[in-house]
Amino acid sequence: MIYLDNAATTRVSAEVYEAMKPYFCEQYANPSAIYSFAGSAAKAVDEARRQSAALIGAQPNEIYFTAGGSESDNWAVRAATEASAGKGKHIITSKIEHHAILHTCQYLEKHGYEVTYINVDENGTIKLDELEAAIRPDTTLITIMAANNEIGTIQPLKEIGALAKKNGILFHTDAVQAYGHIPLDVDALNIDLLSASGHKFHGPKGIGFLYIRKGVRMGSLIHGGAQERARRAGTHNTPGIVGLGAAAALAAAQMEKSIDKETTLRDYLIKRVLEEIPYSRINGHLVNRLPNNANFCFRFIEGESLLILLDQKGICASSGSACTSGSLDPSHVLLAIGLPHETAHGSLRLTLSDETTKEEIDVTVEALKNIVARLRSMSPLYEDFVKAQRQDREK
Ligand SMILES: *Cc1c(COP(=O)(O)O)cnc(C)c1O
Repeated sequence: MIYLDNAATTRVSAEVYEAMKPYFCEQYANPSAIYSFAGSAAKAVDEARRQSAALIGAQPNEIYFTAGGSESDNWAVRAATEASAGKGKHIITSKIEHHAILHTCQYLEKHGYEVTYINVDENGTIKLDELEAAIRPDTTLITIMAANNEIGTIQPLKEIGALAKKNGILFHTDAVQAYGHIPLDVDALNIDLLSASGHKFHGPKGIGFLYIRKGVRMGSLIHGGAQERARRAGTHNTPGIVGLGAAAALAAAQMEKSIDKETTLRDYLIKRVLEEIPYSRINGHLVNRLPNNANFCFRFIEGESLLILLDQKGICASSGSACTSGSLDPSHVLLAIGLPHETAHGSLRLTLSDETTKEEIDVTVEALKNIVARLRSMSPLYEDFVKAQRQDREK
């Protein structure tokens, strides 16, 4: 098997798994308990909080553990806007956010909020001038993702953060694809709220956090006990939290090396595909791009059939995001960068990890060449296109 769907989820790394193990059957105490048996679990949660914070230059007490990226996104957008509803009810986001953001914004629109969805250019970079023009006296939150999960484009966070700060608006970023993969600093980028998720960087599933800058006023999404400084109720998921912290520490130690390795492999993959497969294109920014992301379109090809044939060769890939595959709608991200509907249907996302090898990329490119040629040989659209080209040439 060749696993090239690391934007959907990653393998829990061996070190992370080892770190988690004692907290299932041995140190199983509720970390909030008073007795000394709970001390080790409580210490482990503290350590994970420190590790998670260190990766983005935050203070440990600004990290609030949640059940993952979707919860962090929902919480940030709902609670931050609710808390400042007295000032106004206008939110700014982009057209290419993850559905955890977009659907939360749509929910708020049904409850009296107004949302402006900023356009992106053909590379998937948000239009800063449009963002600046959208700011109003009643704008209370800007939520723009750090890096896109489909096409890998990294957003100009520093510029967005500066605009937000200048105008006294909170800045939230969905950093689920970026955290643990590229350097992020909440102070340098003026980020007030940041979402991350363990399973996107070799940690476990169902655990994440929301970074909330000290002093930001906002309520809870999950009401109940006094965990997480009374802001996020629920017994701590000790093994998950420990795993998240361990993954963050590993990411910190290996980031530079991983970025180098993944970028080299990614660019090799992109070069081979574009050179060896006719009528292919790369989506997303070529430079401001996640080190592990490649997203292609192949004209005259259905993304769905491509995935099935790749699967038959043992290659796990995806068309756009895992959350939308299974639906026949074209990707909202590919439409936003200006691709026509029929092209947006034919996309392929290959996302690497630092475990991916050059051999795996070679096998994948060869398989892709064969599959694309085979699908095109069965496509009446492609046949017509080739005929029309030949006639053009003969004229
Ligand atoms: C995966 C993902 C999410 C959702 O995170 P979960 O932990 O799976 O809930 C949110 N935003 C982006 C950009 C993602 O890639």
